[in-house]
Amino acid sequence: MSARTPVRRTPWPEGTSRPLGTPLQPSVVYAAKSPDALDDIYEGRAEGYSYAREAHPNADVLARKIDALENASGGIVVGSGMAAVTAAVLGNLEAGEHLLGASQLYGRSLRMMKTELPRMGIATSVADPTDLAQIEAALRPETRMILIEIVSNPTLRIADLDGIAALARDRGILLAVDNTFTTPRAVQPLDHGADIVIHSVTKLLAGHSDATLGYVVARDPERNAAMLGFASTLGLTASPFDCWLAERGLHSFELRYDRAEDNARALAEHLDGLPGVVRVIYPGRADHPDHDRARALLGDRTGNMVTFEIEGGRQAANRLVEAARDIAFAPTLGDIGTTLSHPATSSHRALSAEERAALGLSEGSFRVSVGVEPADLLCEEFETAIRAAANG
Ligand SMILES: *Cc1c(COP(=O)(O)O)cnc(C)c1O
Repeated sequence: MSARTPVRRTPWPEGTSRPLGTPLQPSVVYAAKSPDALDDIYEGRAEGYSYAREAHPNADVLARKIDALENASGGIVVGSGMAAVTAAVLGNLEAGEHLLGASQLYGRSLRMMKTELPRMGIATSVADPTDLAQIEAALRPETRMILIEIVSNPTLRIADLDGIAALARDRGILLAVDNTFTTPRAVQPLDHGADIVIHSVTKLLAGHSDATLGYVVARDPERNAAMLGFASTLGLTASPFDCWLAERGLHSFELRYDRAEDNARALAEHLDGLPGVVRVIYPGRADHPDHDRARALLGDRTGNMVTFEIEGGRQAANRLVEAARDIAFAPTLGDIGTTLSHPATSSHRALSAEERAALGLSEGSFRVSVGVEPADLLCEEFETAIRAAANG
């Protein structure tokens, strides 16, 4: 501590005590002890950091925790869920190859397939992941990757994960699974034969709508190293502060998930039978079209997402949102609190009314990302809002 000018960096005090909370380390660069020591870090002979775009401790702490949840190792944390999709796709595919996507992927993933990848010489198409025959029929000789989500948004259809994994293995095609909706609490895709797992950490894992982050991991360590190199070169790096916030959120992930899922089950039950409600979609309900597959694949872990439809079109939808004053009308999911979204004006606004109808969506369709509030309060708030919508 003897530097004679404040410009000189002060060494961080070392000692035998350690902080209980994870320190936030925003440093962009790390000073090495010598060229030999730096060489050891770059060659993997010693632990350490050099430049934060390549790696930093807050990302590593977070990545190791998600690895443990996913039964994986060597996963990487990147700046958003879409950065994770980018690393999985562009970090693995070559021009001339084909990517087959699930027909109801996250909107931006579909947009990447439609408008960005073709510019780079990667052909794309989509098929229904609930129907293995359709997936098989859509394969081409140059198909290199299949990208699916297990629970679709917002109709909550369940992909045939095991069937698609077996098909991909047979054909030597990579299977990438975006596990954002299901989370590792419900299913660990690597254990079902997936090659790559993707997360928008922004959603349930971080859980507080204050950090935008992604995670991607491959079964094959060389693929992880390649994706890490890709993410570092293309600049997909996550901010230390976001990683620090997400790690804090992750501490309560399992508690939040379990509570939100119990609430979702209770809300789905409660909505069913309310006057004006024409349909309730929840994979844990016996009337769900993929109920048996949901049971087999997810057990009781049928998630925190509930979709329902009311009578009365856009006007009733407006009345519902206005009456549900304490429930955030916001196009996200996985927040600690319940959020409500209206696919016709948000996630599915680019589709025509006919295309939405083909998916089973109308102006009266709502998707609920159920949070951890007391269940009776939540049921009461929805009942009041649905009554207001019906009595317009
Ligand atoms: C939100 C989301 C993404 C994108 O994540 P961002 O963190 O917003 O970039 C990708 N996939 C799914 C399923 C999502 O819900």
